[in-house]
Amino acid sequence: MISRIIDERQIDRLRKLLEGSDRIVITCHLTPDGDAIGSSLGLAHVLGAIGKRVTVIAPDAVPKHLRFLPGARDAIAFSSYEEYAAKLLRTADLVFCLDYNEPKRVDRMERALMDSKAPKVLIDHHLNPADFTEVKISHPEASSTSMLVFRVICRLELFDKIDRAAAECIYCGMMTDTGNFSYNSNEPDLYTVIAELLRKGIDKDAIYARAMNTKSLSAMRLNGYAIGEKLELFPEHSCALICLEAADLQRFGYEKGDTEGLVNQPLALPEVQWSVYLREDPEQIKVSMRSKGNFPVNRVCKEQFGGGGHLNAAGGEFKGSMEECVNILKASMTLYDEFLPKK
Ligand code: 5GP
Ligand code: MN
Repeated sequence: MISRIIDERQIDRLRKLLEGSDRIVITCHLTPDGDAIGSSLGLAHVLGAIGKRVTVIAPDAVPKHLRFLPGARDAIAFSSYEEYAAKLLRTADLVFCLDYNEPKRVDRMERALMDSKAPKVLIDHHLNPADFTEVKISHPEASSTSMLVFRVICRLELFDKIDRAAAECIYCGMMTDTGNFSYNSNEPDLYTVIAELLRKGIDKDAIYARAMNTKSLSAMRLNGYAIGEKLELFPEHSCALICLEAADLQRFGYEKGDTEGLVNQPLALPEVQWSVYLREDPEQIKVSMRSKGNFPVNRVCKEQFGGGGHLNAAGGEFKGSMEECVNILKASMTLYDEFLPKK
C-alpha cells in the first residue's frame, strides 16, 4: 500500500470533527481547476456515502471542461448564489478548505468563509499555509490536493466508500495538476493510487480526453495564433512570453478555459526555462507562469504581482494595463537570472 505521510494527530482531530458533524461544506479556490474541483467532489462523494449532508461551494462556476465530473452540476458557485452559499457556510458543522493555503484565495467568498463558526479543515499542497483552520493537512511536496484527499480517505478507513464517481473526481485532480503525469509525477505512490482508482472502474483515457484534450475550433485557432504570432523569447533570461490582449481574445470568441495549457507549451523549447502568459481580462491582467527545474515562478509571481503558487506553476493578477504589466515583468527578469542553470 501507499506510504503514510499525514500526521496521525491531524487525522485523529479530523476523525473526531467528522463524528460530530452532519452538515458539511467543502470549499476550493477561485477559478477552480481540475484539482480544486476533483478533490472537492471526490471528498464530497465519500462523505455523502457515510451519510453526511455535503455541499461543494466554489467561489465561481465550475469550468466547462470539468462539468462532466459526477456531482459537478450540484456544486454551488458563490458568485451566482451568494446568499444561499453564505447561509450554507453559516449553518455548516464543518468546513473543508481544499487546494488553497489562505482565505484570500476564495476571493469574494472570504468573509462568508471566515464568518462561519464551523471548525475548518485544510487539505492542501501550496507553500506557506496560513493559520486559519483547526485541522491543517498541508503537504507542499504532494503533487495534488486530490492525492492528499485520497490519502486522508484511506487514513479514515473509508477506502471502501470510494465508488467510481469519487474515483473519477480524484483521478481528474491528480492528472490535471501533473499535466497528465508529465511533471511533479515521479512519486511511486501516484501509480499505486492510479491502479486502485482503475480497480474502482474509472476510464482514465476518457477522463483525459474530456478534461485535458477537448477544445473548440476557435480555441484551437486562438492557441495557434498565440504561438504563431504572439510568442516572444528573451534568450538572455531563458524566458518565453505570450500576451493576449482583449482584442485578440475577442477576435477568436474567447471563452474561459480556451487557453488552458497554453503557458506550458513554450517549455518544450530546450532554451526556455520559464514561460509567462499574460491575458487581458475585463478587470485585470491574469498572470500565469510555468518553469522547469529549480526556477521559482512562485517567487516571481509573489514578488512582482502579489500572487503565488508552486515552484513550477504559479500565477497572480495585475490591476493595470497590459503595457505596465509587461514592463514590470521585463524590468524584473534580471533579478531571477541567478536561478537559471549555469551555462
Ligand atoms: P494558473 O496559471 O493555472 O492560473 O495557476 C497555477 C497555480 O498558481 C495555481 O494552481 C495556483 O496554485 C497558483 N496561482 C494562480 N493564480 C494565483 C494567485 O492569484 N494567487 C496565488 N497565491 N496563487 C495563484
Ligand atoms: Mn492543486
